[in-house]
Amino acid sequence: MKINSAEFVISNSDVTKCPKDNLPEYAFIGRSNVGKSTLINMLTGRKSLAKTSGRPGKTQLINHFIINKTWFLVDLPGYGYARVSKSAKKVFQKFITSYFSKRTQLVCAFVLVDSRHEPQKIDLEFMQWLGENQIPFSIIFTKADKLSKTKLSPQINTYIGKMLEYWEEMPNYFITSSTSGLGKEEVLNYISEINSQLKIS
Ligand code: GDP
Repeated sequence: MKINSAEFVISNSDVTKCPKDNLPEYAFIGRSNVGKSTLINMLTGRKSLAKTSGRPGKTQLINHFIINKTWFLVDLPGYGYARVSKSAKKVFQKFITSYFSKRTQLVCAFVLVDSRHEPQKIDLEFMQWLGENQIPFSIIFTKADKLSKTKLSPQINTYIGKMLEYWEEMPNYFITSSTSGLGKEEVLNYISEINSQLKIS
């Protein structure tokens, strides 16, 4: 898919104030510092569409962007930032729960995980929760350039092995690097295919 336009629409913390347009929506979520903002900028080919933040855990907002005037890309807050207080975590949980349960136009959530790390409890639990709530998701492995080719594939296989302890099948997954552009076409084509099934060009 070629990105012809990518525009910021609205940021907010209230799901009822998200855009009313009934366009297909794709959400990006993951632990703080996983490389979400950089990935969004890489996918859209815009240098600073999503704000790469030097202060993880700071932006607790749902950010909507409209792409090619036909679908929404949603940048959700990073989770699992240790310095956020317990009460802030609770607010976050509620807010994310209501986003996922109320946003019926959500087509797919992309859960970002850092390729270099062992499977993290918080990510596994989050995916479990998505599964229990029948929210379709795919995994995006980020920062693949930080591992050598010989290390990358066993690392991904370890992740798949862990997932298969919980899941009958491995969800769709993409291996990406925002530095090299690895995985860009695959992710965009995946979105494009779903959009065309939904009859949106
Ligand atoms: P966010 O908190 O998930 O939005 O993470 P950011 O997009 O701000 O990225 C966190 C850090 O990881 C920044 O220093 C980025 O430059 C770096 N980073 C993000 N993606 C990649 C990648 O694909 N490769 C490399 N080498 N660094 C990355």
